[in-house]
Amino acid sequence: TSSKPDISREKSAELYEKAKTYFPGGVNSPVRAFKSVHGTPLFIQRGDGSHIWDADGNEFIDFCCSWGPLILGHNNVKVREKVVEVIQNGMSFGAPTALENELAELILKNNKYIEKIRFVSSGTEAVMSAIRLARGYTKRDKIIKFEGCYHGHSDSLLVKAGSGLVTFGETSSAGVPKAFADETIVVGLNDKTALQKAFDDFKNQVAAVIIEPVPANNGLLLQNKEYLEFLRDICTQNGALLIFDEVISGFRIGFEGAAGYYKIQPDIITYGKIIGGGMPVGAYGASAAIMGNVSPEGQVYQAGTLSGNPVAMGAGIAQLTELLRNGFYRDLHNKAEEFTQAIQRFASARNYKFKVFTIGSIFWFAFTDKDICSADDIDPASMEKFKKMHRELLNRGIYLGPSGYEVGFISSAHTKTDLEKAKRAIFESLDLVFRQ
Ligand code: PMP
Repeated sequence: TSSKPDISREKSAELYEKAKTYFPGGVNSPVRAFKSVHGTPLFIQRGDGSHIWDADGNEFIDFCCSWGPLILGHNNVKVREKVVEVIQNGMSFGAPTALENELAELILKNNKYIEKIRFVSSGTEAVMSAIRLARGYTKRDKIIKFEGCYHGHSDSLLVKAGSGLVTFGETSSAGVPKAFADETIVVGLNDKTALQKAFDDFKNQVAAVIIEPVPANNGLLLQNKEYLEFLRDICTQNGALLIFDEVISGFRIGFEGAAGYYKIQPDIITYGKIIGGGMPVGAYGASAAIMGNVSPEGQVYQAGTLSGNPVAMGAGIAQLTELLRNGFYRDLHNKAEEFTQAIQRFASARNYKFKVFTIGSIFWFAFTDKDICSADDIDPASMEKFKKMHRELLNRGIYLGPSGYEVGFISSAHTKTDLEKAKRAIFESLDLVFRQ
């Protein structure tokens, strides 16, 4: 195996130069800038099924899938037709529509972990609102989050661990007041002692513990069920709410997300991505009693001009209807399992220090031979290997998200042929990464 020549990026590079004159760093969301991989960002022109095409006409099998929402692949005909049908009657009214009821009913009838829901327009907004709800409900201010979990870019959550076992967080972005970070306590994942100490140190002050039950923003840091049950119990004992941030895992690892997968009842759940089928949507849900605290029923204010937007609701109705089809998740997960196991077998047979972490249709390639379940376990130096792999894969028509800390997604549109082609490209790329 030898390296392939780099794909042409002339048009993308030209667009990127222009974009840099319009947007900070040339992008509207940082990870898109390809800072941690080779070359300029690819500007995508079109997607269909599991394939995308960039501005230079390069074709890729896409394992980023818009960072998760496209569980049916690009340009799904049912989603597109529903969007077109809805859009013909106008795009936004700022007044209630029947579509919101329809989508809520689809979700609530098939998810026993929440009784009421509120639609918003992004994952960030969903989490920010859930935190406010937890604070309003408990009348406490502090929240606990975990190093290695991402919850969007609201002030309270752009906080990372300081030094020491249990610390006030330090802001991880300029512009976040220290006073906000002081309300967020950050502990390591999979560490019961640290969490217990946080509750002891801040007795009766903790409004909520928020976790990605399937942490998928800093590698895939799968937690064991027993640890998640410990979270449930310690929150209950201390009068704090448990928030599951299921912006990625919701409707992905099953219709009931991680709550259903682990059979754990959180107090509030946040969702995003998949609900909108590619349109901007987020949501948060809880018991009727907790949701009763949200305005206009209760005292916790939260609103949005475009919340429950009819076009987004239409996309969600079409997409979630497909997910509820008998055997949808079984088929998707079988396909994903076959794919990831074949890759792991290949790497193990050659003694490569490489592991595929996976749950449902989410996977993460890690250049390690260790079990990884907290952010500290990841060796930053291993990202050089990812960078090389990413380049080789692009040159073989395989698109992964442009960072080794990001997970990949398999959609129902990925065919056997796609996955065979991807496997071959991954095998060749691994050989190049490890043998040269
Ligand atoms: N929470 C989690 C778990 C996420 O993965 C993300 C985004 N990847 C967010 C919140 C923020 O969502 P958004 O980017 O839609 O604001």
